[in-house]
Parts: sequence; C-alpha cells; structure tokens
Amino acid sequence: MSTLRFRVVEAAFKKKAVEVCSPAGKPSEYFARKVFNREKMLRYLPEKAYAQLADSIDNGTPLDRGTADAVALGMKKWAIEMGATHYTHWFHPLTEGTAEKHDSFVDLDGKGGLVEKFSGKLLIQQEPDASSFPSGGIRNTFEARGYTAWDPSSPAFIIDDTLCIPTIFISYTGESLDYKAPLLRALEAVGKAAAGVCRYFDPGVKKVYAYLGWEQEYFLVDEGLYAARPDLLLTGRTLMGHESSKNQQLEDHYFGAIPTRVQAFMKELEIEALELGIPLKTRHNEVAPNQFEVAPIFEECNLANDHNLLVMALMRKVSRKHGFRVLLHEKPFKGINGSGKHNNWSLGTDGGVGLMSPGKSPEENLRFITFVVNVLKAVYRHNGLLKASIISANNAHRLGANEAPPAILSSFLGSQVTAVLERLENTDVNEVVVEGKQGMKPDIARIPELLLDNTDRNRTSAFAFTGNRFEFRAVGSEANCAAAMLALNAAVAEQLTLFKAEVDREMASGKETFAAILETLRKDIKESKPIRFDGNGYSEAWKAEALRRGLDCETSVPLIIDAYLKDSSVRMFERTGVMTRKELEARNEVKWETYTKKIQIEARVLGDLAMNHIIPIATRYQSSLIDNVYKMRDLFPADKAARMSVRNLEIIEDIAEHICFIKEKTDEMVEARKVANKITSEREKAIAYHDKVFPMLDEIRYHIDKLELVVDDEIWTLPKYRELLFIR
Ligand code: ADP
Ligand code: MG
Repeated sequence: MSTLRFRVVEAAFKKKAVEVCSPAGKPSEYFARKVFNREKMLRYLPEKAYAQLADSIDNGTPLDRGTADAVALGMKKWAIEMGATHYTHWFHPLTEGTAEKHDSFVDLDGKGGLVEKFSGKLLIQQEPDASSFPSGGIRNTFEARGYTAWDPSSPAFIIDDTLCIPTIFISYTGESLDYKAPLLRALEAVGKAAAGVCRYFDPGVKKVYAYLGWEQEYFLVDEGLYAARPDLLLTGRTLMGHESSKNQQLEDHYFGAIPTRVQAFMKELEIEALELGIPLKTRHNEVAPNQFEVAPIFEECNLANDHNLLVMALMRKVSRKHGFRVLLHEKPFKGINGSGKHNNWSLGTDGGVGLMSPGKSPEENLRFITFVVNVLKAVYRHNGLLKASIISANNAHRLGANEAPPAILSSFLGSQVTAVLERLENTDVNEVVVEGKQGMKPDIARIPELLLDNTDRNRTSAFAFTGNRFEFRAVGSEANCAAAMLALNAAVAEQLTLFKAEVDREMASGKETFAAILETLRKDIKESKPIRFDGNGYSEAWKAEALRRGLDCETSVPLIIDAYLKDSSVRMFERTGVMTRKELEARNEVKWETYTKKIQIEARVLGDLAMNHIIPIATRYQSSLIDNVYKMRDLFPADKAARMSVRNLEIIEDIAEHICFIKEKTDEMVEARKVANKITSEREKAIAYHDKVFPMLDEIRYHIDKLELVVDDEIWTLPKYRELLFIR
C-alpha cells in the first residue's frame, strides 16, 4: 500500500467514537426545544395575535401587518432567549439544497449604541438579491429581484445562533423559483379535491391533509479516505474503483449491529433532529456495506419535507464531527446498492381518518377503494411525469439497476386489494349495491384487517401499496422530496376533481350516491389497469410488457424530463393551479442545464484523474517491470531470461493497451464536450451529453479498474473500495 494511502487508512481505522453529550432529560422533554411551535406561540404572543396566527396556519387566512409585527416581536423575544443573534429566511431554490442569508437582529439605536430589532415586515418578506439561483431564464440578472415570503404552516426554528424562517421563493413577476411554493399549491389542491370526495361518505369532513413519511438512505465514509478521493469530493460518487472482492454478497450488513462510531453519529444526529422537532424514530444498517437508513414518524407533507431537508443538512454537519462524510448521492459505488428515499404517502381527514386504510364498514371500505382507484388512475395518467419528477443524472444510475425500481412506473397492490378491484370490475353495480337498513349499502367484500401487517410486499415496485399508504420508492436519496410530492399530489388532485364531476353527473341523472361512485370506479379500474403490476419489476419480460401496455419506458434522462411539458402535464398543473406553462418551461431549462453540468463535471474529473493519477502510476509500475525484464537479460542466458519474463511482458503489454485506450478515449471525450458545449438549446445540449459524453465515462472506467487490479498496490494512490467501504 502506498505510504500516503497507508497513513490515511491507518488513521481511519484508529478513529474512536466521539462522546455524545445527551441534553438533560428524555427525548419527549427536549423534543422541539428549538422550534417556535404552538406551545411557544401561546407563551410569547398576545392572545389575539396567537388566535390570528393559528387561523392563518389552519385556514390560510392572510395575516394583517399588526399581527405580523406582534408575531415578530414574540418570535424575537423567544429567539434571543435561546441565544440567537441572527435571523434568516430559509428557502428551497431549484438546487438540491436549501438557501439562507443571515442578518443580525441589531440596528443602530441613534444614541451611539445598538438595539435588537425584528419587525413583521422582515418576518413576512425579504428581497434577496439572488440572481445566482437557477431560474431557467425567468429572472434575468438585470431584473434580479426575487422575494422570499413566510410560510406560517411550517414553524420557525433555531440552528446555532440563527432563527430560521421557512419561506417560499418567488420572482418579481410572481413565478415560483423554488420547490416549496408549488408544493404548497399542490397540497392545497389535493386537500380540497379529496375533501370533496370524502364528503360523499361523511358530510362532516372539513379538511384533508397529505402525509409524508420519508425513509432516508445514506452512506458514511471516513473523512480522510474521502479527502483522498477527488472524484467523491467533487462529484459525490466514485468514478472509478474496482469492486471489492467482498461487498454485499453475504447479506451480512442489513439490520446488522451498528458500529460504535456510526452509532455515536446517529445518536448525535437524533438529538439535534429531535430538538428541531423532527420525530426521528428508526435507524438501521442498510443492504450495502457502510450504508444506513434513518426515518421519522410521518407528518403533514410540507412539514415532513422541510424536516427531510433539515435532516440532510444536519447529517452533513454532524458526520464531520465524527470524522465521517455522509454520501447522499444515489449511486456512490458501482457494484453495490445505491441510496434512495422512500416516500410513504397518504391522505387523511381532519378527523384523523386515513383514506388509504381499509375500514370496518362497507362504506369505509368503499371510501378506501375510491381513494386507491383514484390514486392508481392519477399515477397511470401521469406515469411519465411522475418518473420525470424523480429522475436526475444521479438517480438514473439506480433506476433499473436491479436494486431499485425500474425506469418504468407501475403500482403493486397485493393480492387482497387486487381481488376487490377485480370483483368490482366484473360485477354488475346493482349486485354490489344492496338495499340496506339506511338505504343503499355497498356490498364490498370485507377487506381483511390483516392488511397492514401482511407480508405481501414487493420490493421491485416503484409505487407500492403497503397497507395504509402508498410508498413511492423511486425517489432519489439526495432529492428534495417536494419534486415528487408536488407532482403526485397535483396529479391526484386533478383526478379526484374529475372523478367527483363524473359522480355528480351520474347522480344528476338520477343515480344514488354509492351506485354513482361504483359506476365511475368501474370505468376507472378498467382504464387504469395497465399501471397495476405485482410481478417482478426487475425482469426483462416486464420491460417488454410495459411497452405493450403503453407505459413510459424512456430511459434517457433529458428525454424523460420532456414529460413535464406534455399537454396532459401542463393541463394538469394549470388546472390544479400548481404551476403555469411558463414555470414548467423554466424549470425544464434548469433540469437540462443541471444534467449537463453534472456530466460535464464528472467528465472533467475523470479526465484529470486518468491523466494525472492513473496513467503516471501505471506507467511507473510498467517501467519497473521493463527494468526487470532488461535486468533478467543481464543475469541469465537469453532463452532462460525470455522464458522467465513471459508474465511480466504480458503485464507490460496489458498496461500499455489500457493506457492507450484511456488516453484516446479521454481525448475523444474532450472533443465530444467541445461539440456539445457549442449547442445553444439546453435540451439538445443535455441530449448530447447523455448520448455522446456519458457513455465514455464507463468505457474509460473499465480500463482504469483493470489497471487497479494489476498495478502494484504500494504505489496506487487512490483509496480502494475495500478501504472506503469497510472502515469502522
Ligand atoms: P419500511 O422500511 O417497512 O417501509 P419504516 O418503518 O422504515 O418502514 O418506514 C415507514 C415510514 O412510513 C415511516 O416514516 C412511517 O411513519 C411512514 N408511515 C406509516 N404510515 C403512514 C401513513 N399512513 N402515511 C404516510 N406515511 C406513513
Ligand atoms: Mg419502506
């Protein structure tokens, strides 16, 4: 092992777990300590201001200036007591992260001193000069203004010395420039549409909420080893590296004992998250070595998404304290599983009824089936769009790689729900609706209550029903869940609205409510059938079958993104008030540009490493072999020397061939980039990067990985997979 590599690896092995100081008390006592939640609002706000704020949170009523000032005053008092000196509007631009610009509370007092100030105006709106956030051309630099506006539905919180206020980010002309604004609109749309349908069953339902419970997968790598891998550092993934002889074959990591150092990291992460009101509950080892998962208790979707973004930021921060780097990239290592983020999603009423849960009475079960079928229909109609909502340059490595759902969206229902749908589809409505005591009753076969715990699970399905929710499993580990959640909720909102219109039409023509619902459901069950697939999503046969069923089977990232601009998508987003065509077009520009940049960076990093790490080292080793061959000739008679040098000569030739290929391909890749860079359309440029540049990364890698196997370990500078993946 090279001395440099040896030193880093040895240091990594010697690292001890950092002591974690627990805050006083039990989690239930320090939970949300750093959040301006209702309990603090009650304590720090005048009664009237509290009532108005609560009304604004619950019902979206706008806050007047006076209330905003009162809220700001209370919030400032609490924050300063908590040691905060600064505040910031915290928002989610169209990057995969969050943004913040801190301002101190202080202002000049006019008497030569300072005073802490914070007003309703500052709380409600800021005008960051944010011309360097992606906007897809909506905001040119000469018209750089963007606004952040307070989202009272997600409570403010404190990180270090800063009061963070969750906000949306919009342009001067009102278009959203972030993930939160359209997510909030989609949630409102789905809430309204779902409540409308719910009232067929219970006229008392006022509101419906969408819920999200995310499961976050990640890798931990020792920071010393990470620093010695420029590819990890600059692109988040290893662009080269031969598989370790042992990786996940023995299936000995999943749910295994958590290593001490990792456990210390998890413990600190949990404490910090709990203090921020994030209800983390689950932690475990994942399938791949050094891969782990964390999951909270599910929450209202907007809040859950804020919490996921916060947790990712916390993970990055806390991991460093423990001598780790967290890898949130979807595919950091070739040959072993990548990381995803399962999005468990459901709808529920203000009365606490889960709409994706089977009930006890026939009515409850009809309601359950109604929602399941509407979700299926939405996912069917917009399967291409939903795939676009989770695709990225990074996530493309995972999808279809036999470790994650394929690049085709389908839905697994399990045998029980499938049986109910089949019965409904094939039976006359008059037989399913029978005369009961209080009128018409749907004779829906009892859905076994076991459903929740049943083991009828399918890991290969991208969108699986799991007893009381759907699990959207194709979301990327690094992604902002909002991209997937806003598309899903908007699509379901549109579908529920269409469904209700149809049922109302049937009723207007004289049908009884349940009969009208059943009639409409039957049509929808038939129509959405192609999206249902309970078989093996990893199989080749499914790809052919999916194509026959007319599902979106596109695999090229830039072309998958086109789905956002399909007529059906634009209509859906405009109908639901979630996004306009202009916003969608702008976002697609950002997506294509981001794709290009990611591949461009990877190509540059790989080219650099090939030329200044790999080729020089391989040449050095090759020279030592050549030297040996010559010396053998000095020592032994020619025929004996030749015989004894056969192996070395083979290796010398082998290395020469790999080097030639690497050099030629690297030059070719530079040329391909030059050609692509001249293209002005972002879409065409991304296509060129996908078709021409991207495939070369793997071709070059193949030869580098071969060299890794033959070149003397002593002089190989880059940490190898077996070191990156098995450090405790
Ligand atoms: P698994 O690994 O078996 O899928 P986990 O317990 O790791 O399950 O995670 C399941 C996630 O789903 C948790 O965040 C949980 O709170 C969430 N969840 C459970 N029920 C619902 C529901 N009705 N709606 C949304 N999320 C839910
Ligand atoms: Mg899960």
